[in-house]
Amino acid sequence: MSSNRKGKLVLYSGASGVGKGTILGEAMRRNPRLRLSVSNTTRKPREGETNGEHYNFVSREEFEDLISRGGYLEYAEYCGNLYGTPKQQVEELLEQGYDVLLEIEVQGGLQIMEQYPDVLSIFILPPSMSELESRLRNRGTEDEQTVQKRMEQAKTEMTMQNRYRHRVVNDDLETAVNEVLDIIERGE
Ligand code: 5GP
Repeated sequence: MSSNRKGKLVLYSGASGVGKGTILGEAMRRNPRLRLSVSNTTRKPREGETNGEHYNFVSREEFEDLISRGGYLEYAEYCGNLYGTPKQQVEELLEQGYDVLLEIEVQGGLQIMEQYPDVLSIFILPPSMSELESRLRNRGTEDEQTVQKRMEQAKTEMTMQNRYRHRVVNDDLETAVNEVLDIIERGE
């Protein structure tokens, strides 16, 4: 995209299983100016995940090497794996005029808020914790121990929701997508 306008950075968080990815997929289909930053992670790929598309799947050594070179905008450890946003990619997309979404957990989110106090931040909430647990379980991508770990993590993450400027409940997908698109469009 050629443009003189620099894109907006959008911080986007919410518990595992809340449907963040589904909302984003639909939002990006409707707004071609949106791009999702592809993170690096040391987590193993799940079935159906493609390297370079969902994540860049890297070794812990590669991950730590980029930390030492100052190459991350933020990074955090989550349920035993490292996740981080490569700085260069985000800067290039913003320069090209795209609005760039960072779909990251809250520890990384707080690092972004410190660096960019005016960042547009959105927190996605489940209709209830029991609904979240059944979505996480029905997704079938995680074993029982991981489901438990992610539910614990979700409870901690939910306590941080007030640090985000906007909160969207993912009860009805269509409503949630429209709310996210409106927030980004308004840009405040
Ligand atoms: P998952 O393993 O389910 O793909 O991701 C686990 C959590 O890590 C999710 O909350 C996701 O948003 C978050 N995450 C993904 N990429 C990054 C990243 O680059 N940095 C941080 N801090 N969190 C990330």
